[in-house]
Amino acid sequence: MQYGVTPVGIVRSCFKEKFAIPRQPQLAPAARGVLELLPPFDGGEAVAGLEQVSHVWLLFLFHQALEDKPRLKVRPPRLGGNKSMGVFATRATHRPNGIGQSVVRLEGVEPGRLLLSGIDLLDGTPVLDIKPYVPYADSVPYAHNAMADAAPACIGVSWAERALPQARAHGERLGEPLVALIEQCLAQDPRPAYQVPPAERVYGVRFWDVQVRWRYPTPQTIEVIEVCREA
Ligand code: SAM
Repeated sequence: MQYGVTPVGIVRSCFKEKFAIPRQPQLAPAARGVLELLPPFDGGEAVAGLEQVSHVWLLFLFHQALEDKPRLKVRPPRLGGNKSMGVFATRATHRPNGIGQSVVRLEGVEPGRLLLSGIDLLDGTPVLDIKPYVPYADSVPYAHNAMADAAPACIGVSWAERALPQARAHGERLGEPLVALIEQCLAQDPRPAYQVPPAERVYGVRFWDVQVRWRYPTPQTIEVIEVCREA
C-alpha cells in the first residue's frame, strides 16, 4: 500500500545547514523564513482567512534526512546521543515517512507566500500541509513528557570585540534580527551533548548569507568570534 504526497510550498529559511538549528520551533523567535506556496495554492484562495491566525502548524518533509529503510530505534541528541529509544517516542528527524511538524508564528500573509518566525526548518524544506493552530485543542495544560518536560537549558553567549559590530552590520544589510538569531540559536548549545571540545576548537555555521564562528572558552559558555560574509 503506498500513498503519494505533493508539497504545497517550500520554505526559504535563515538556516542553510542542519547544524545549529534549534531542536524545536519557538526556541529562537528571531529565526525567520518565508513559505513560498506552489501552484495551485499560490493565488490567495487557499490562505484566505489565515490572517486571523497567530500561529500555524506546518507538516513537512525532513528532506535532508530521508532514508530507504525505516529505523525502529533512534538515539536522540537531547539524550546525549548514546541512549536508544523507540522512534515513536522521539521527535528525531529519522522517521518512517520523513514527516516533521512544527508550530510557527505567522507574521504575515502575502500573495503566494507566508512570512514565518520561530522556525526550526532548513532552507528548502518541502511543506506538505498548513493548518491553523487552535489554542483550545492544541494546548494541553496538564500534558507531560518525562523525557522532555522543559525546554533545554540555555548556555551563556558573549561576543568578541569585533564580532558584535559585524553581526549588527550584516543584520542591517539583511533587514534581519541577526544578533538575536545568533544569540538565541547558540544559547541552545548546538554541539552534540556528548562532545566536550578543547577551548581552541572553532565551530561555524551559515545563517542567511553569513558565516558565524564561535568557540567554547569554558564547557558551558560560547564566545562568538566572527560574523562574515563568504562567497
Ligand atoms: N519540530 C519538528 C518535529 O518535531 O517534527 C522538528 C524537530 S527535529 C528534532 C529538529 C531538527 O530537524 C533541527 O534541529 C534540524 O537540524 C532538523 N531539520 C530541520 N529541517 C530539516 C530538513 N528539511 N531535513 C532534515 N533535517 C531537518
